[in-house]
Amino acid sequence: MQIPLLHRRLATLVGLCLLLLAASGFIPKSPTDTGSPADAEPTLAPGPSSSVESLLQPAAETTNLAETAEPAIDRSKRHRATVKNGDNMATIFASHGFSARTLHALTQTEHGRVLDDIFPGAELILESNEQLLTSLTYQPGPLESVVFTSTGEGGFTSEERFAEPAKALTYKHGIIDNSLFLTSQSVGLPDNLTMRIAQIFQWDIDCVLDIRPGDEFFALYEEHYLDDEFIGYGDILAARFVNQGRAYTAVRYTNETGSADYFDSEGLSMRKAFLRAPVEFSRISSSFNLRRKHPLYKTVTPHRGIDYAAPRGTPILAAGDGKVEQASRTKANGNYVVIKHGEQFVTKYLHLSKFARNIKTGKRVKQGQTIGYVGATGYATGPHLHYEFLVNGVHQNPRTVKLPQAQPVPQREIARFQKRTFTNILLLDHFRDQAALASASR
Ligand SMILES: [Zn+2]
Repeated sequence: MQIPLLHRRLATLVGLCLLLLAASGFIPKSPTDTGSPADAEPTLAPGPSSSVESLLQPAAETTNLAETAEPAIDRSKRHRATVKNGDNMATIFASHGFSARTLHALTQTEHGRVLDDIFPGAELILESNEQLLTSLTYQPGPLESVVFTSTGEGGFTSEERFAEPAKALTYKHGIIDNSLFLTSQSVGLPDNLTMRIAQIFQWDIDCVLDIRPGDEFFALYEEHYLDDEFIGYGDILAARFVNQGRAYTAVRYTNETGSADYFDSEGLSMRKAFLRAPVEFSRISSSFNLRRKHPLYKTVTPHRGIDYAAPRGTPILAAGDGKVEQASRTKANGNYVVIKHGEQFVTKYLHLSKFARNIKTGKRVKQGQTIGYVGATGYATGPHLHYEFLVNGVHQNPRTVKLPQAQPVPQREIARFQKRTFTNILLLDHFRDQAALASASR
């Protein structure tokens, strides 16, 4: 859908106001929100420069209340223990001088079963008075805890508690010189976020074959804090990738039914109905070429597909949802699979070492599902996948063919989509302008 120009202008104005507010120092730190709906978009605005991050950092020092608040003569004690490999509650209790009977009482409570199987790395806080356990807190992770409290008569009650992390927005920008991962690391973006960015754009950009020096990325994402302590990364809310001069923008949107996915600014899915390449981390050993001279016979023998060289056994993925039309073997093709995707599209996969389990004629497959493994069966000089992509029966170059989109944001939800994502797109634009300014003034 086209947004009327006036609306866009209005939107831009509102956005500018937001950014001005931000520039004037109105930088709210997101509160430890416990009551907000799960899909509420964070409302942080950026600072005027890339100092957003430092502004969003939590206060550095936290005091350990447990230790400082302890009166000198009190007989109560508080111990913290981290569960190690091979630990169980019995050994921990024994080492702290608590009885097996106390442990038994704990396990009889509503949440007592969690103590049967404690995780290495989990935290335990044991509080006691005169050698009697008054409370036990078990924390399998930073956001979850189970608290057992003594009833005073040898029994305990238990309660499960969940903490909501404080979310802070941050962003990173990198200009790639050689490797996406090296550049990401150099600007402080952790590998798992880089991987997620690569996944968001994987239908448009092959992060092995398409990346060029000078490519740029922008990422706007959440960091989670609990009591001012960093506990992990949240969602990537928006990202932009400039690949060989072309910019791709993606925003995260949680729809009315609560499922989240990435869309471009118009609400089109970042996903395509087809993967660009059916083998990950491979190298093209022979391109699509309808006028190829055969290496041996010197005659024109068109290469109607792409050869992906990859080690024998590398998984081959179904390029899109569809139905297996053939899973068979011929002298030339070796083991091969043909998948039909709706009425228009067919994909073919040749020279497989073997089929994946359950891949048989007539079976349905999902995009990304492993259908077989790279091999060199049939007329093949070495392990590779020969991959063909047909549109209405005509061979097309799988690397350049225009691929159909997956489902967009439905029309009736588009206003909601725009309302919820436009701040994040504005922020991306803002960062891009800053980056351009910074490089211009260098
Ligand atoms: Zn081939």
